[in-house]
Amino acid sequence: MNKLTSVTPSAKTGSVRSLGPSATPEVPPNETDESDEQLSGVGVYVHFPWCIKKCPYCDFLSVPSARQDIPAARYADAVLAELAARRAELGAQPVRSIFFGGGTPSLWRVAELRRVLEGIISAFCPDSPPPEITVECNPGSLGYDTARKLLDAGVNRLSIGVQGLDDERLRFLGRWHDAEKALGAVRAAVQSGMPRVSADLIYGVAGQSPESAAAEASQLAELGLSHVSAYALTIEPQTAFGALARKGRLPQAPEQAVADAFLAVDEALARQGLEHYEISNFARPGQRAQHNIGYWRGLDYVGLGCGAWGTVTRDGQRFRYRNRPQPEGYMDQALGLGGLGCDPERSSAALRQLEHESEALSADVQLQECLLLGLRLAEGVDLERAAARIGAEPWPRARRRAAERLIERGRLLQHGTRLVIPKPAWLFSDGIISELL
Ligand code: SF4
Repeated sequence: MNKLTSVTPSAKTGSVRSLGPSATPEVPPNETDESDEQLSGVGVYVHFPWCIKKCPYCDFLSVPSARQDIPAARYADAVLAELAARRAELGAQPVRSIFFGGGTPSLWRVAELRRVLEGIISAFCPDSPPPEITVECNPGSLGYDTARKLLDAGVNRLSIGVQGLDDERLRFLGRWHDAEKALGAVRAAVQSGMPRVSADLIYGVAGQSPESAAAEASQLAELGLSHVSAYALTIEPQTAFGALARKGRLPQAPEQAVADAFLAVDEALARQGLEHYEISNFARPGQRAQHNIGYWRGLDYVGLGCGAWGTVTRDGQRFRYRNRPQPEGYMDQALGLGGLGCDPERSSAALRQLEHESEALSADVQLQECLLLGLRLAEGVDLERAAARIGAEPWPRARRRAAERLIERGRLLQHGTRLVIPKPAWLFSDGIISELL
């Protein structure tokens, strides 16, 4: 459920209402929640690859399984073995955030998740204050007791896949919870004393009005959430919905209705005091998702677990890797890493076998990714600073011309070296960003 490059309202044509006066005010471009110091170090992402059932719109790596069949302890052992090898290869690094995503990590026995969390902390940051530690949860596997146990384990943020508060729409989305269960999970998380609770919502589903999207966002925010992620439903080709759409048998919302829902959610959450700080994300002051901020700013993160992606710097070169995506194959290979001790060379050689794919990232690709992700933020991206850090050319002639055209059309702002997509143009962000790559 980790939506790194999550959906953007894709209205590229047609008349869409701009974000009106009641919409979230512009964030001054240099005013951000996070200092560079807070964002130093690496993020750690742990993928938990199982779900009770596969949702028909989902293209994340998730394998359906009955809860009792999930090899919870063996998987924790495998992730800990991988962690030891990555630590030997990368050396000691401060950790800025830890994120358990999936799949459905709330299906993991808390004792096993706790073992992994303690392993990460003792490997990377034994003497530092705890970083942001998030666990993604499904309402069907989150109650008060689980939330309390996660809190006791050191988790300080839950992200709950609510997705909607209408039973019929939840059934259409293939979810195994209903609205009552979703509300119960959010209430339980808040009442457990968990410092930060976020909920995911999906809008732009056929038959859903903008008013209902806004009402659901408001209803959730009123429960005491610190953060909301709201995504337009997108149809990915490799999913059950993708197959239905190809046959013309999937009801879909018109583009204008999706854009209207985006604006309605923006207005509703602004009224609740949540800042729209990224195209799909809203937070109360000081409550932005630090882990995702790291992705959007193009910072390194270590990926652990089956199918996990990571981006790390080794010997001055940035690499992106993905671990083996089959749970059994991953566990067999990772458990074989045990016993390598702290030998960086042997660990590196063994880790390459664990990785399904790996590529060195050129400076140009890194800068393109900075634009692709950084321009989703209200604060935008400091292009020249990012280019200097990466060692890339910030302004090839084609990008300079594209930026001038976009600025003339009011689709892009330049504040010194920082580029920002103004909020009224967020509905067109996919097209704007692709012009700048
Ligand atoms: S619960 Fe989340 S990760 Fe699992 S199948 Fe559904 S959308 Fe995908």
